[in-house]
Amino acid sequence: MPELPEVETVVRELREEICGDIISSVEIFRSNPIVQGDLDMFQEQLCGRKFMDVRRRAKYLIFNLEPKRYLVAHLRMTGKFIVSDPLPEPTKYNRVWFNLESGRQMIFDDIRCFGTLEVYDDLADSKSLQKLGIEPLSKAMTLGYFKKNLGSSKREIKSVLLDQKIIAGLGNIYVSEILFRSRIHPQRSAGSINKREWSLIIKYTKYILQEAIKNNGTTISDFRRVDDKTGAFQQFLQVYDKKEQPCTECGTPIQRIVQQQRSTFFCPECQR
Ligand SMILES: [Zn+2]
Repeated sequence: MPELPEVETVVRELREEICGDIISSVEIFRSNPIVQGDLDMFQEQLCGRKFMDVRRRAKYLIFNLEPKRYLVAHLRMTGKFIVSDPLPEPTKYNRVWFNLESGRQMIFDDIRCFGTLEVYDDLADSKSLQKLGIEPLSKAMTLGYFKKNLGSSKREIKSVLLDQKIIAGLGNIYVSEILFRSRIHPQRSAGSINKREWSLIIKYTKYILQEAIKNNGTTISDFRRVDDKTGAFQQFLQVYDKKEQPCTECGTPIQRIVQQQRSTFFCPECQR
């Protein structure tokens, strides 16, 4: 599933490809459950609008249109955007075509159809955007924020870092990596994390996300960039998907446990 660095990669590439272009028509090949709301309305609301900017909030892509309107997309499991020269017909998993005045197409492709596309005149109307926690690469990411909100929390640190209402954009891969670098056991309660350890979590969250963005994200299975290339950060992962492989620090076999139905990978020796 794409996390913050993968979405940021797609946003940067889309910005290069489509800004200044105008949507001439929208063709929907499979709407349910991707396109939110009325289909005719969705097409009508977008036709004739110009892409002014593409940006990211958590794992959402926000397309700023002119006259003012917003297309908000979430890739979920397997959603992806492809920009290409016009195709003669949709390929198997093409769900929506945004035909552009330049003659090119922005394609929303999604094998499993968990992705979403929504249109808003005002982003304040998006309930999902309003509920999001702080951006991990922003100045809001401070020791004070975590101590204040989680200082006495009994929840496991792994679940807390995955909670989009607390910190937005992290997923399973990067949280495993952040806790490994910070040498913190994923089952520790958030309330037991001391100031020094929170500082390490903040430091390595920023470091790992920035490195992953530099490498155009991580491709474990489905993630593809706008030009269908893969990301390259998977070669720098130290624990994720490395069950039984020796820890890079101490040689102890990496363990896999399940927390909230999701895999966590960690070193039982280095992480306490
Ligand atoms: Zn180790």
